[in-house]
Amino acid sequence: MQTFPSRQPTQGTCDPHQPHEDLRLRYRYLDLRRPVLSNNLHKRSKVAHIVRSTLHDNDFVEVETPILLKSTPEGAREFLVPTRLSSTANARSSSHPLFYALPQSPQQPKQLLIASGAVDRYYQIARCFRDEDGRKDRQPEFTQIDLEMAWVSWGNQYAADAGVWRIGGKEVKEVIETLIRRIWSTIEGVELPEEFRVMTYAEAMNRFGSDKPDVRFGLEARLSQTDDIVEALVDAPRQQYSLSGSAGLLSDYDVQRAVANAIELQKGDTIWVAKRSRIPQGGSTTLGRLRLSLSAIAQSLGTLSLPTDPHFLWVTEFPLFTRADSDKDFLTRGRWGSSHHPFTAPMWEDIEKMYSGQVYEVRGQHYDLVLNGTEIGGGSVRVHDANMQEYIFSEILQLSNSERSSFDHLLHALRCGAPPHGGIALGFDRLMAILCKAESIRDVIAFPKTGAGTDLLFRSPAPASSPDILQQYGIEQQRS
Ligand code: ASP
Repeated sequence: MQTFPSRQPTQGTCDPHQPHEDLRLRYRYLDLRRPVLSNNLHKRSKVAHIVRSTLHDNDFVEVETPILLKSTPEGAREFLVPTRLSSTANARSSSHPLFYALPQSPQQPKQLLIASGAVDRYYQIARCFRDEDGRKDRQPEFTQIDLEMAWVSWGNQYAADAGVWRIGGKEVKEVIETLIRRIWSTIEGVELPEEFRVMTYAEAMNRFGSDKPDVRFGLEARLSQTDDIVEALVDAPRQQYSLSGSAGLLSDYDVQRAVANAIELQKGDTIWVAKRSRIPQGGSTTLGRLRLSLSAIAQSLGTLSLPTDPHFLWVTEFPLFTRADSDKDFLTRGRWGSSHHPFTAPMWEDIEKMYSGQVYEVRGQHYDLVLNGTEIGGGSVRVHDANMQEYIFSEILQLSNSERSSFDHLLHALRCGAPPHGGIALGFDRLMAILCKAESIRDVIAFPKTGAGTDLLFRSPAPASSPDILQQYGIEQQRS
């Protein structure tokens, strides 16, 4: 996730006057004495309270879902939890150790809950776990504001009786906008617009080269002192424009003139040009990343300053399937993967394309909420037709029998009758970091882990205290 050099006061994660962060994490109970950290915890509790009361006012029911769950190929790498149950009861005949998996999100439980009919509107401030490689400002365990609703849709719907496409309900959008407006009004004293802007993935990628565009600066942003900026971008694919023509990607003179006229190029101007496939893929393009670098450099040189007020944006109509997500390679192994997760429904208009094999072109009823260039949440309308879900598992994602069987309960629940449903999850830690003007999510978590996923206070992860313990789980220690 791209972060800009912050224009806002930060809380000293890299403050030279503070001891090194590792030392502070080791003695977190002393570091928490700093008012700035204790204020963050108080603010976090206040926002959690606003979340609960707003959702409660909107008829949502808070439901806890299991933490010890089962491993399924949903998208992220999971943590496995060995259990001694392997040596008891029905597993007695098996010599294989048994494992729970910690939930990467409560995705399946919340869908099953809605399918059950027990509640029409679920929410939970849920703990999620992903065993991903340590990344800056991510934690192996994190908190989501997670919700799910029955009777929702996102995109346009075909009204067969009238033979026309109608704009579908925007229930999830409305609930989230109400919630965010209430948080910003109470915590920041800022009144946000009634409706947030919506942009398709195709527009975001074509205009901004990013699926989470920072719309505070557009193509029209003019940069001065470009020589310094150009110098700082030595590796970028660029071309100096001269009226007599220039070499490289824009070598065709007519194309060059057309481009020059369209964007009013002057002699000596620098333009950046990159080739990519016509249908955009993934989260960013070469030029999109360049645009962010240009912005960061221009800001540090003082030639561009971005407004600090919140610009919320919905990005929607993502490709439903992708081969361009390296994070999911371990799961897809060359097969199609789901851009969001395998339960996301196609746009109604694209259902025929999905069944006729035009997989690349199918867009999902998938939406992300972006704030000033940072993704703060994402969700989708789900597949509620068991046959369609089965087709996606078997024909498109080409799950093996054992992978597919891990979703049998979901298929059965859909077969028993489930209402159209959808939901979203907002990253609570990131949201709080933004509200606390904190540089890192570690500043808004009471007992955080390092970027590499280690807990310096409790010193975890750690080896088992003795080989006997592993034996109880049926796990053998590898000899080195
Ligand atoms: N479970 C999804 C996630 O963690 C959110 C959703 O689709 O509701 O990204």
